[in-house]
This record gives sequence, C-alpha cells and structure tokens, in this order.
Amino acid sequence: MQWSCSSVEETSLRIRCTCGSTIFDQKDSLPHKALFVSDQLIELMIDKFLEHAHNLGRVNEGRLTLEEWSRQYFLDSFPVPTSAEELLGEIIASLNVRFWREIYECVECRSIVATANDGSLVFYSRDTDEGGRLLEASDSAEVLMSPVERRDAGLLETT
Ligand SMILES: [Zn+2]
Repeated sequence: MQWSCSSVEETSLRIRCTCGSTIFDQKDSLPHKALFVSDQLIELMIDKFLEHAHNLGRVNEGRLTLEEWSRQYFLDSFPVPTSAEELLGEIIASLNVRFWREIYECVECRSIVATANDGSLVFYSRDTDEGGRLLEASDSAEVLMSPVERRDAGLLETT
C-alpha cells in the first residue's frame, strides 16, 4: 500500500477530508480513530507507568502518603485525590495526553489523518481499495485475553 501526504483543515472535533467527507471525533470508542505512541517514547512511557504502579504499592503499604505521591507528579495547585486509585487514574490520564497522538481513518475514502509531533494534522491518501479498515479493532475477543483467560476458555492447550 502506498500513501501520499498533504496538510488538511481541522475544526475542533471535525476534520474535513480531501475527499469532501467529514471525520468526526465526538465520542469514545470510535472505529475510525486510534491513538499511537512514537516507538522512541514507548520505553519512557512504560517506565513512567511502572514508577507510578510502584508508588501505588508504597501507598498501600503506608510508606508513602497520597499527598507525597501527588506532589511528585502534580503541582501544588492540583487538589490531592481522595484515593490512591483516583490519583493513579489522574496520572495515567495525564501521561496518556503527553505520550499519545491521534490518527483517524476517513470512513468514505479510507485515507488517514495523523497528528504530527508539532500538533499539526497530516493527510495520507490511500491509493488502493484493497485491504481492510486500518484502525478498527479486531472483532476477536481472543486477542485481548490473558493466558489464563485463554486457558479457561479452552483456547490454549495445556500439558
Ligand atoms: Zn476521505
């Protein structure tokens, strides 16, 4: 598959595709949207998640207070959440915004619009109708199962 690229016009939650249709981003779980992380940032992102997962354990063991943990990440103006789970959720949401970028697939012409690292949108037109939708999730629930869930569903041979 080959792609060509040009810039596109964007208006908040709507993107005008070069084919004339509009790409909407107005709710969660869109089949024509995905988030991506640069391969150069994956290890750093995982390290950040692990650092805060470790802090969750330290809070649960009484070795770190919620406020101490919150102040390791958020400025003093950010209110300290009332539970470790809430704080971890706030940190994960913040990390997601910092690391992930959006990519969309036009539902009409199946071209791709991606967020560049400077925040601009770049349009990649598709030169063939062959191949499936690029961003839609697999309809196979098996893909998302842990090894234990696969074993319990009889999908994994155990010896
Ligand atoms: Zn299009």
